[in-house]
Amino acid sequence: MVETTFQTCPRCGKALEAGFAHKAPGLSFVAPDKLQHFIFLDEDVAKSGLSKLLPSAAAFFRSYLCRSCELYLIDYSAALDRTQAKQAARSMTAGT
Ligand SMILES: [Zn+2]
Repeated sequence: MVETTFQTCPRCGKALEAGFAHKAPGLSFVAPDKLQHFIFLDEDVAKSGLSKLLPSAAAFFRSYLCRSCELYLIDYSAALDRTQAKQAARSMTAGT
């Protein structure tokens, strides 16, 4: 698996903290035109849909947090299940 990791914040340049975003609550995205027209239907980009009701379908996305300027990057291209997320977490903390 090819993994792109982000080391520094694209906004402020400080170090990013790598982690995971939980897929279960869905990922909300509101397009600017919808907001302008007061159509408050946000798009669930993670397409969690009904799976958010099923705890067994727990999934995680790699994410990167900048605590300095409060920017949160979420890579939702690949969902990791609980086992994959644990493996990724182990590799992130090993040898650092
Ligand atoms: Zn930042």
